Amino acid sequence: MTDVIKLLPDHVINQIAAGEVIQRPASAVKELMENAVDAGATKIKLIIKDAGKTLIRVIDNGCGMSDTDARLCFEKHATSKIATAEDIFTITTNGFRGEALASIAAIATVELKTKMAGNEAGTLIEIEHSKFQKQEPCQCEKGTSISIKNLFFNVPARKTFLKSDQVEFRHIMEEFHRIALSHPEVEFSFFNNDEQIFNISRASLKQRIMALFGNTYDQKVVPITESTNLVNISGFIGKPEYAKKTRGEQYFFVNHRYIKNNYLHHALQSAYTELLARDSHPSYFVFFEIQPGKIDVNIHPTKTEIKFEDESMVYAILKAAVKRALGQHNVIPPMDFNMEQAFEIGPIKSTDVIRQPQIKINPDYNPFTEEAKATFKKVVSSQSSVVSQRTNYAAQESLLTTDHLPLTTIPTQFKWHEQWGKEYLVVAYGEKLLLLNQRLAWEKIFYEEASIALQKKESLPSQKELFPQTIQVSADDAGVITTLLPELKCLGFDINDFGKQTFILYGTPSGIDSGASQSLLEGIVENYKNSIESEVKNPGAGLLAKSYARKMAAKNCKLLSVEERDALLERLFQTDSPSMAPEGKKVFIEFTPDKIESWF
Ligand code: ADP
Ligand code: MG
Repeated sequence: MTDVIKLLPDHVINQIAAGEVIQRPASAVKELMENAVDAGATKIKLIIKDAGKTLIRVIDNGCGMSDTDARLCFEKHATSKIATAEDIFTITTNGFRGEALASIAAIATVELKTKMAGNEAGTLIEIEHSKFQKQEPCQCEKGTSISIKNLFFNVPARKTFLKSDQVEFRHIMEEFHRIALSHPEVEFSFFNNDEQIFNISRASLKQRIMALFGNTYDQKVVPITESTNLVNISGFIGKPEYAKKTRGEQYFFVNHRYIKNNYLHHALQSAYTELLARDSHPSYFVFFEIQPGKIDVNIHPTKTEIKFEDESMVYAILKAAVKRALGQHNVIPPMDFNMEQAFEIGPIKSTDVIRQPQIKINPDYNPFTEEAKATFKKVVSSQSSVVSQRTNYAAQESLLTTDHLPLTTIPTQFKWHEQWGKEYLVVAYGEKLLLLNQRLAWEKIFYEEASIALQKKESLPSQKELFPQTIQVSADDAGVITTLLPELKCLGFDINDFGKQTFILYGTPSGIDSGASQSLLEGIVENYKNSIESEVKNPGAGLLAKSYARKMAAKNCKLLSVEERDALLERLFQTDSPSMAPEGKKVFIEFTPDKIESWF
């Protein structure tokens, strides 16, 4: 019997590996550029012809290689980046498997020129048809230049599966973006068919984003930062109003390595819930710094997927960081952030002595002295004036300094407010001036109340109808109402199915005129039906809350008294991100003192 099993020659093994690592010209671009970064280059030049099918050349000013290394680097599993398997867990370079150059040499014509700093001459190596053709000294700059021609010359199947130049070029461009973004400290240039496409200098991340995607990004993104024991997060995320219909610029980097991660993408996207119009996607450029031991980068041939030891924790941290970034930079914070710090309580140590809270009283206080009466009068009169419906600062200060009267809990953010037409309020909020759309403010308030009630399956307050109303609806509407009965009850509708498309309404959400209850219900059902067709998933609670909010808002939008405005503002600023109504509409526009000053 003859033996059938043979050892494959190395170049065949390499072709198999190449099938994984080098799938298209863009993969070769990625590997070469990553090597240049790993070599500590501060300048990297990429040159391609015919979308990389004719030529790919990468020139760097990194550390270069010795004569021996220049030859060795094309051997399979030859790498300078790890020595033992454990080293993978402390890896800080892009590469470590030592197979990219071997794979490339097996399927293309390669020319390498490299020189280390301090050496007189460099080394030139040529590889053709998977064989070393020559190695000789050469004159070259410090660093490395590798060119690849005739890619996939011996893998016809790969070659035929390549897409048009346009598509392959887009893939290369994407790789270029990823590397240029992950290393703003490096200078990059990019030539396509002799035309210079990019020449970008060393810059901050923000400048790098603008250099790659256009200056308008200056306005389109807000910074995100978070630092925890497990992970540090930094970078930029897109403002909701600039979200795109197609998934655009979405980049995660872990320790400066571009990665794909649907789970973390979900965390980010879900932090935008309700701020985005349907089917739109925010841009993001988010960097995670994490101890190399807490991730595994060795699970995928192209290393674009990695495993986190504690992925759900990273998920939660990212989501919170995105929410905070949006709150701080794009949306008015729900509370004054200076105030929020006052609530921060440090961790309690076991050695700390915990004291019982003391109530400070002034035993000598006599409310009938002239001085005390004067202070009291001053506070009361200032509180009752329209301008300081909310305690004004002067009054509060006198309370604090005199120790005479109990402190009230009236929030101080709203110094004053006025109605402007039926639709708008003008509000002095802390240092800022807000122009607020009343209808959208109500929409936001009702939406949030409804969402919470529906989620918790609790009921919003309901008011009894003086005379229960009988409502007859179309068969279609009857179907909708019947399926929504439990949810409608949560929203404050006390309603029973009487059969034959008839319902009896005993109570409605409070705050609505009795006469308006039937039209409110019909409006919600109508709205719900209209939007259900375009809603992609989970039409239930979210959509119902939106329909409810829209109708309730329409019914509440009117000229308000001072007290009603107070109540509206208080309720609005208790919601999550008060400046954003459902579907990303702005509830108000804010003017900062700087902005106002700049107008004059
Ligand atoms: P890996 O990057 O996984 O180590 P490669 O096949 O990409 O494997 O490269 C093999 C080795 O060749 C690297 O470890 C490095 O020592 C050397 N090398 C490759 N490219 C360069 C470069 N541009 N400058 C300096 N050394 C390089
Ligand atoms: Mg490499």
